[in-house]
Amino acid sequence: MTGFAQTAERAEVQTESETFSADLVVAADGIHSTARRLLWPDTPETTFWNYTVWRGIADLDLAAHEGCMTLGADRYLLTMPLTRGRVYWALGAQAEAPGVRYPDEREAVRERVADWHGLVHELLDATPVDRVLHHDITDLDHAPLPTFVNGRIALLGDAAHPMSPDLGQGAGMAIEDAVVLAATLAETGDPVTALARYDLERRPRAQWVAKAAHKNGHDALMGSALSRRLLSLTLRLMSPAVFAKVSARALDRLWGWQPPALPGRLHRTFVNPYVFLTLLLDGVSGRADRICLAV
Ligand SMILES: Cc1cc2nc3c(=O)[nH]c(=O)nc-3n(C[C@H](O)[C@H](O)[C@H](O)COP(=O)(O)OP(=O)(O)OC[C@H]3O[C@@H](n4cnc5c(N)ncnc54)[C@H](O)[C@@H]3O)c2cc1C
Repeated sequence: MTGFAQTAERAEVQTESETFSADLVVAADGIHSTARRLLWPDTPETTFWNYTVWRGIADLDLAAHEGCMTLGADRYLLTMPLTRGRVYWALGAQAEAPGVRYPDEREAVRERVADWHGLVHELLDATPVDRVLHHDITDLDHAPLPTFVNGRIALLGDAAHPMSPDLGQGAGMAIEDAVVLAATLAETGDPVTALARYDLERRPRAQWVAKAAHKNGHDALMGSALSRRLLSLTLRLMSPAVFAKVSARALDRLWGWQPPALPGRLHRTFVNPYVFLTLLLDGVSGRADRICLAV
């Protein structure tokens, strides 16, 4: 992708060898979005905030174990049991510079949790080395986009709202974007109006979630020793029932989101695993002859 152009009727995506023309363009090219840079050249790049994350899936049966979080001085470990005897884990840690990679990423994790409780070591032993992912965390917390839309072109997902993983919502927000975009396109035959509505609907929520995720990550990794101790003590004293109540209330705004009503055919399509593509294509059927997905 090298550029975009628009007329009153069409949007174009240019590449080095071709130009694609469509009624609208949805750019979902991720956290380091080229589309974002081309459309809003003055927008700063996402910022690394001294935070890196390793993730893995351990072949370990922890049927009785619930998801948990272990907080250390400048690192945390999250574990979440999956189905079929597997456990997802993520180690977040402070890092001085982005882009530092290790020949054995699992060993790099092990070094950071050497004196931690036994479950951590069980998880690492049960994780194949080639299933350990390592990503530096960046976001746009310092400069959220003023809009997700430029005429007939819309950003969607991480391209629009890069966020840290500290609420586990990046992909969820991308799916919500797709559902809302499909609904706005189904509502009106005019892509420009639909995209403007999409921006109005999605930007406040996605940017609120991104901000809250940034704060969560910052508090977990960079909070003071006193605040960590207070949190730890509070959690120890709180009964599971009270904890469930408090967290349900705190997460209500996040998890209470309801998708907009979609026309019958779209609604049925929503459960389809190809939700993203199908919704978009269905959403404009009869209204647009071609959608260009810039992914
Ligand atoms: C450590 C970590 C943990 C996470 N945990 C969660 C979680 O628990 N829950 C959750 O919901 N989210 C989580 N996320 C976030 C989630 O991974 C992202 O928000 C999600 O993948 C964003 O989807 P996307 O489609 O917008 O972008 P991506 O998944 O990045 O997809 C973008 C696609 O565009 C392609 N592309 C890029 N540039 C071009 C180009 N010029 N031309 C053609 N193609 C291009 C890329 O190759 C890629 O396939 C986590 C992220 C991290 C780093």
